[in-house]
Order: sequence, then structure tokens, then C-alpha cells
Amino acid sequence: MEMQARQLETIKRQLEGLKDRSPFYARKFEGIDLGDVRTQADFEKLPFSDKADLRAAYPLGLSAVPEEEIVRIHSSSGTTGTPVIIPYTRKDVEDWAVQFARCYEYAGVTPLDRVHITPGYGLWTAGIGFQAGCELLGAMAVPMGPGNTDKQLQMMQDLGSTVLCATSSYALLLAEEIERRELQDKIKLRKLVFGSERSGDKIRERIHDILGVEMYDIYGLTEVYGPGIGISCDQNAGMHVWSDFVYVEIIDPQTGEVLPDGEFGEIVLTTLRKEGAPLIRFRTHDLSRIVPGECACGHNEHPRIDTLSGRSDDMMKIHGVNVFPAQIEEILATFAGASSEYQIRLSHLDGRDTMRLYVEAVSGSVDFNGLAQDISAAVKSKVGFTPLTKVVELGLLPRSEKKTKRVIDERYE
Ligand code: ZN
Repeated sequence: MEMQARQLETIKRQLEGLKDRSPFYARKFEGIDLGDVRTQADFEKLPFSDKADLRAAYPLGLSAVPEEEIVRIHSSSGTTGTPVIIPYTRKDVEDWAVQFARCYEYAGVTPLDRVHITPGYGLWTAGIGFQAGCELLGAMAVPMGPGNTDKQLQMMQDLGSTVLCATSSYALLLAEEIERRELQDKIKLRKLVFGSERSGDKIRERIHDILGVEMYDIYGLTEVYGPGIGISCDQNAGMHVWSDFVYVEIIDPQTGEVLPDGEFGEIVLTTLRKEGAPLIRFRTHDLSRIVPGECACGHNEHPRIDTLSGRSDDMMKIHGVNVFPAQIEEILATFAGASSEYQIRLSHLDGRDTMRLYVEAVSGSVDFNGLAQDISAAVKSKVGFTPLTKVVELGLLPRSEKKTKRVIDERYE
């Protein structure tokens, strides 16, 4: 993707004096004269930054402004060790809300909407981002946070919420609950803004079948503001990423080489205006591609990335074969008898890697054994090994309020 002229100018301005403002970048770009970055090609020679670099700067080593300019911090989850802390200036907080309000606009949300926000509040960036954008747009925020399904459904009915913000797994859980309790007629939802998780077509279809809502896929991560740096439009043809705030590259996760538009690889983001913790060529580990060509919505100043196809670190190695959950999902999508829900368990059996694949059937009238055999055969032919597939009843696999864990690796426990 060709860098826009205004993006290059903004990047050059940002690089100016960056090493003086930020000890983090003084170290990272040691021996590099940032004044030499004059073209896109020069920029593409700069080293990447990674979550590990950010972690090493814990707690506030990423800050590129004096203490008095920091008004808030957010933190990404620390499940894999030290968390990353991102400091925000007042301007960063405002810029984030501007981007988020734009997301709602693209989704057709208006000041007459009532926006039911289920993502969590706190150190995590989710809930507060959904709320700030909603308030800036002028819609009514209903700041639920996650959990307590009874209360969610009660408030949704009493307030007549028209927009639901949720992860796709929680939206599915709520939708199934609405269906089970036969509340469809009492629910006024017309739009679903969901994100922060790759979600297969089957989940979307199932939510759409139950709720009949228009769905918008939102993108973002705590390190780069939070959710709200991009969203899909009415064309449902990828997520527009705000080119005035973020520069997107897609790289080969193995070699680091920048890939041409249309090829799948890892998303690398550079913030164009961030003050508190600017990020230069940050490796997200999210896998996607730049959607080539023009979008029919006409907003072509904001390039599109495809629905996330996984995380580069979700890659499983089985019998020496690299496998992504997305591949398994694609195969499952071809079976009408399989629901959206599945679980992969990797274990060591008799000295060999084994994949057990649990798949929910769409109904009890499906031939469980036949379906399991067909799925195993399809995985064998498309991926190269045979999983032990077991088909189970609908609703048996766990649903989660956050991100549903689909791969459980028991080989090293
Ligand atoms: Zn569009």
C-alpha cells in the first residue's frame, strides 16, 4: 500500500525529536538518524517494535511526554506475564473518542440511538472507548459492562437499546438467551458493533438469524488507542482504518518483508498523532490483508483491512505442519450440520501430537458419527493430518463473555 503524502509528512514530523522525548525510542533507534527518513522506503527500514519491547518498558517507560501531560493510563492484559502500560495525554483521549465516534457514524448510529455497552471497564480499554465515542456522537450510552445476563436482557428491554456493543462470543450468548426466553419481540436492537476477536461467518449468521441486526466489525488494540481505529462499513467488505490516525502495513510474519495489497500477513501499525506513547511499526500479531481496490461506500481515503484471520501466535504446529484455527473454521463452515462452535485440544498421545476436535451439531437430528468422520476426512485432505473429531450437542461447548478460548494445548502441561 502506498503511503499517503500527508501520512509521510505526519510521520516525519513525529520522528523529529522523538529520541529526545522518549528514552524508549532513544534506545530502540540507537545509531539511526531519524532525520534520514524521507521516503516510504526509508520508513520501511526502521526496526519493528513488539509487545515484548513494550513490556520491557513497564511501568511507564513508553511515555514520550512530561508527567504532567499524562491524564490516564490503560493496560493490556497480563495473562502472559508483565502487562503493557500505555499512557494517554488529554489529546490522545480526545483523538480516540473522535475515531470511535466516526466508527459509530460509519455504522449508521445516530443521536437517537441507545447504545448498550457490554465490554469491560477499567484498565482494559474496551468499555470506556465505546462510551466516549458514543457520548461524542450524541447517542445515549448504557454502560453495562460484561456479565449478569438477566440484568443485560432486562435493561435491553426496559431501555429499548437499539445498538449492542459486544464481543462476538458474548453477542452470541445474549442472542441465544434471547431466543431461549422468546424475547425477540421485546428487543429493539437494530445494530451490533462487535469486535476484538476473530469471528467466523457461522457465528455472524447465527446472531443475524436470531436478532436480525446489521453487524459492524470494529478494530483496535490497547497499544494503539484501543478499539475504534477502524470499522466495517455498510458494504461489509473489510474494515476501514482511519488513515489520519494510523498507518497500516502488512508484513510477512517470518521475514518482516512488507507484502503487496491483497496478500495475507501480520498487521503492523504506526500511530500518526499519538503523544503519550507513539508507536512506530508496532507488530500486532493480528493476521489480515489490505483489501485491494475501491470500496463502494466511497471512503477510499481510509484503506480497508480484511476480517482478522487469526493471530500469528495462534499458529499450531502439529506433526510439523503449521495450522491456524481459521483453517479449521473454514473447513467446518462447509458442513451444514456443524454449528459455529468448536474446540481444539492438542495433546501428546503415545509420543505423537494429537488433535481432538469437538464440534457442536446444529441440531439433534444430525448424524453425529457420520459428520465426525466427514470432518476428519476433510481436515486430512486440506491440512494434512487426521484429527480425532467428536460431534456434540448444540450448547455443550463453553461460551464466554470475553474471548472464547478455542485452542487448548495440553502438550506442555
Ligand atoms: Zn466502505
